[in-house]
Amino acid sequence: MKYLGIDLKKPKIGVFDFTSCEGCELQLANKEETLIDFLSLVEVVNFREISSDQSDNYDIALVEGSISRRDEIDRLKKIRAKARVLVALGTCACFGGVNHLKNHFPLKEAVREVYGENSVDTGKVKRVGDIVEVDLEIPGCPVSKAEVEKIVVNIVTGAEIKFPKYPVCVECKQNLNTCVLDLEKICLGPITRAGCGAVCPAAKAGCLGCRGPAEDANYESLIRIMQEKGFSEFLIKEKLDFYNAFSGVVA
Ligand code: SF4
Ligand code: SF4
Ligand code: SF4
Repeated sequence: MKYLGIDLKKPKIGVFDFTSCEGCELQLANKEETLIDFLSLVEVVNFREISSDQSDNYDIALVEGSISRRDEIDRLKKIRAKARVLVALGTCACFGGVNHLKNHFPLKEAVREVYGENSVDTGKVKRVGDIVEVDLEIPGCPVSKAEVEKIVVNIVTGAEIKFPKYPVCVECKQNLNTCVLDLEKICLGPITRAGCGAVCPAAKAGCLGCRGPAEDANYESLIRIMQEKGFSEFLIKEKLDFYNAFSGVVA
């Protein structure tokens, strides 16, 4: 029996990082309480953060980070050619993430701000899906470790892969959080796909949409509410652009 072209026996997994903070990889590496169960289902053959093994023989590639250098493009294409299933892991890989903010500035100016006059090979930030075909996207900054393990197990067993369709607000209300919109803070929870447990509003911070658009999100309504609350167009746009997760769905 096969699923997505993979034999349903212990598949080999490679985890790879590109332009990123490696926080999503750390989430996987730190998942000690379920790590043994997880490793009983898969064989990790390439994962720089936890092992010196560097095999090129893998079925599933988990790719973290956005793409911002020429050598990254070639490396990503090679990984795509070897993997039967390529998963974009985390908001950087799925949407460009925080790194994408660089694209809002002239490239030379942005590079000089960070690296001074040192010469650095870096270009416009792209999503993994801009360069190669992506079979599955798992957003989150960082990803939810429980969600990644569940999805990988579902790939292995052939079970259906489902993400919440409802927005972060649902989880936020279930957790009885105070709505930060009432605390005069912008929150993108009404238009953002749930699954994180509404961790940001729980900490009295507005959701910045790292998990991307919820299904049937009513963007106009949220923007109107934020305008009525007196937030400037600039601030609203700044929040919507933060992870580049709403590019193409919000004007
Ligand atoms: S999505 Fe967030 S946690 Fe993951 S690599 Fe990018 S910046 Fe780091
Ligand atoms: S704090 Fe944000 S996520 Fe929570 S209910 Fe208010 S708008 Fe929704
Ligand atoms: S509340 Fe929003 S920004 Fe925070 S983790 Fe959840 S989806 Fe991401």
